[in-house]
Amino acid sequence: MKLTYIGTAAAEAIPGLFCECSFCENARRVKGRELRRRSGAVIDNDLMIDFSPDAYTGTLSLGIRLNELRYLLFTHSHADHFCVHELEYRRTPVFCVLPEDREKLKVYGNRNIESGLKNVFGDDLSQQGFEFSFVFPYVPFHFGDYTVTPLSVIHNPPEDAYIYLIEKGGVKLLYANDSGMFPEKTFEYLKGIKLDIISLDCTLGHSPHATGHMGFSANLKVKEILVENGCVKDDTVFVSHHFSHNGLRADNPGEVDWTYENFMEMAKPHGFIMSYDGLVIEK
Ligand SMILES: [Zn+2]
Ligand SMILES: [Zn+2]
Ligand SMILES: [Zn+2]
Repeated sequence: MKLTYIGTAAAEAIPGLFCECSFCENARRVKGRELRRRSGAVIDNDLMIDFSPDAYTGTLSLGIRLNELRYLLFTHSHADHFCVHELEYRRTPVFCVLPEDREKLKVYGNRNIESGLKNVFGDDLSQQGFEFSFVFPYVPFHFGDYTVTPLSVIHNPPEDAYIYLIEKGGVKLLYANDSGMFPEKTFEYLKGIKLDIISLDCTLGHSPHATGHMGFSANLKVKEILVENGCVKDDTVFVSHHFSHNGLRADNPGEVDWTYENFMEMAKPHGFIMSYDGLVIEK
């Protein structure tokens, strides 16, 4: 399984579109790994998780071809993850030319995703080149060589926001954003499942809070519980992901700006790495 991070920031990106804070100004100066697009990822070039406002420029710069996507999985309907109007440009023949026998793009998500798609494309999504499937929490579903299980998290209630357990060829990825601390039922479901890659929401950075999103201390708590529950192997990769300038900036005495370099140094003893745009993990 090849996991490519297309973008790694929260909704306003880093630097924030209109932000003049010290962290964003530094990112503008330094560029490189300090620049972060809105979050999304691609697996093996055919499965995309979320379609952010930066999906086009992100995939273009990383050499990933959107025309080769076969599956699209949505975590929830916030605009940084569900940039629905961009999907219009897959409509043939007005906006794009594809072979006539090209199969429909298979799209998976909750009720909010379904209604968001229907608002733009009308009720008959299949006429517009999409095959939408509503997915249920804790019920695995299959496509291609993938088995995917939506797991419930509390984010943007009352929407049923999901994180996903994604399995292919014996490799298991837990792709977990946006989310606060996992509910008990989600930890319970994962019990005993050996995970290869665990990618966690770290929007809040320095903050100890874990409601709606997580900071790094909550990432450590999740790791502790997953270790206790037998989900972690010697070579499991832990990734902190989905960052906000407000979480990475040093606002309190004793904190340092969590630039890529500073975060990596801080996180290394805890066994975590920091996602960055273009990070590839192969398992
Ligand atoms: Zn988000
Ligand atoms: Zn800022
Ligand atoms: Zn969100």
